[in-house]
Amino acid sequence: MAATDGGMQDWPLLTWRLLDHAARNHPAREIVSLAVEGGTHRTTWAAVAERSHRLASALAALGIAPGDRVATLAWNTWRHVECLYGILGMGGVAHTINPRLFDDQLVYIANHAADRVLLFDTTFLPVVERIAPRLTTVVHYVVLTDRAHLPTSPLDLLCYETLLAGGDPAFAWLGLPESAAAGLCYTSGTTGNPKGVLYSHRSTVLHALAATGADVLALGAATRVLPVAPMFHVNAWSIPYAAAAAGSTLVLNGPHFDAASLHRLIVDEGVDFALGVPTVWLGLLQYLDATGGDLGKLTRVNIGGSAVPRSMIEAFAARGVTVSHLWGMTEMSPIGTIGPPTPEVAALPEAEQTTMRTKQGRALFGVEMKIVDDAGTELPRDGVAFGWLLVRGPWIVDTYFRADAPAVDGDGWFDTGDVATIDTFGYLGIVDRAKDVIKSGGEWISSIDLENTAVGCPGIHEAAVIGVPHPKWDERPLLIVVARPGAAVTKADVLAHLAPRIARWWTPDDVVFVDELPHTATGKLLKTALRERFRGHLTGG
Ligand code: AMP
Repeated sequence: MAATDGGMQDWPLLTWRLLDHAARNHPAREIVSLAVEGGTHRTTWAAVAERSHRLASALAALGIAPGDRVATLAWNTWRHVECLYGILGMGGVAHTINPRLFDDQLVYIANHAADRVLLFDTTFLPVVERIAPRLTTVVHYVVLTDRAHLPTSPLDLLCYETLLAGGDPAFAWLGLPESAAAGLCYTSGTTGNPKGVLYSHRSTVLHALAATGADVLALGAATRVLPVAPMFHVNAWSIPYAAAAAGSTLVLNGPHFDAASLHRLIVDEGVDFALGVPTVWLGLLQYLDATGGDLGKLTRVNIGGSAVPRSMIEAFAARGVTVSHLWGMTEMSPIGTIGPPTPEVAALPEAEQTTMRTKQGRALFGVEMKIVDDAGTELPRDGVAFGWLLVRGPWIVDTYFRADAPAVDGDGWFDTGDVATIDTFGYLGIVDRAKDVIKSGGEWISSIDLENTAVGCPGIHEAAVIGVPHPKWDERPLLIVVARPGAAVTKADVLAHLAPRIARWWTPDDVVFVDELPHTATGKLLKTALRERFRGHLTGG
């Protein structure tokens, strides 16, 4: 020990320690899932831990070595939680694949990751059968089900429950350096090939510990948390790890994302905290408006992935639920900023507090952020100046998986691709994705602001704003909306709603009604497709 060393234990931050903690200290706390086979499945942290050991031993027996990638194509269920911990506990890398990707993208990322095993829910058998001939590295296909539900297939399928029955519950977790690779998640990428973000055990544990914090996700042993965010989208925003650290009850919606199922689950299971993207909550709020139901014990909802409209924050508040905004990205594990008010913000008049809630929140410990201009000069934190948002910290990407060069500059700053403001309270305001911002006559228009104002218009379900070529102004905003079923809302209604709420020159040049808007695999608006479709809308091309 060097003279300058501290005298404390060297305890590598490994993910399986989170599960060990939950199993030892919260053994009977439940993990409740809507099962893929139907019905509600109930288990405990202790049982999940035991079965994770069994899976780890089974993977080792299949010849999986430390560092090998093991992929999942699965919904949020207890089995998927076991997969995460079982794969990582035997030194493997858990590659959670987003099943909403197209076949070509699935093939690309599974081959790029060189996945050796694919564990999947029965839902995805048709996809797996389609792409299997093109998967060059996968040697075992494991179906996450029992013997009775094992489908027949031309593929040589292994049964998850049979593997576990033959597994060793006393299998010893692998001792690894905390810098060892843990999870692998590919960005959904609207252009180009998806890029892999390879989390480490250390980054995962640090992020999970930070996530439990009072001003972050406020997870405790009494929390009954429902992450509607899927595990294939940045590990359900870390909930399977953070809930283990906190000893929370985990409620999982399995393959069910419809409002009726989510509502029933929230009420029946006494969920008090839920997380997900805005579209999920839009559906739930409309369902409640139509059916008159309430939200049971739900008091907090954390929303991220896209900006939250003010109308959604107000609709939840009217139902006694506080919305906290979360901003982050796959490259950030994902949490970057979070909305709970500081005392200074809580002292503001009610309407201003709501405005602050529409901002993306403040950095938590572990995330440094700054905004810079084109020359890289830092801009003031005055809530007005906006520029490129750069971040750095111990759970932020350094180098993409198998990339030749780091994704950060010489000082460790990662360019998020977002354009933002930071105000005097330290609150981040995402103006736009850099590629979505509209440049009209040399000035910038925030598509996010316009969209979120438009969805506040009665009768409007969803809105997208894109910049379309314009002969004089270079680009002008075009508003594309989906009306609520049965609503008789018109273009004039929408423009009248916008008029008092936006700068005049932000007024969209046209409002187009469509039946539905295209989305990416992670539920964001697919603006590349819209720009393609409406390119000539103002020029007649
Ligand atoms: P992903 O890696 O798929 O999670 O996407 C990350 C991107 O989603 C960010 O760079 C933002 O552009 C966007 N995003 C995530 N959360 C928010 C939010 N709360 N408000 C606005 N945009 C967000």
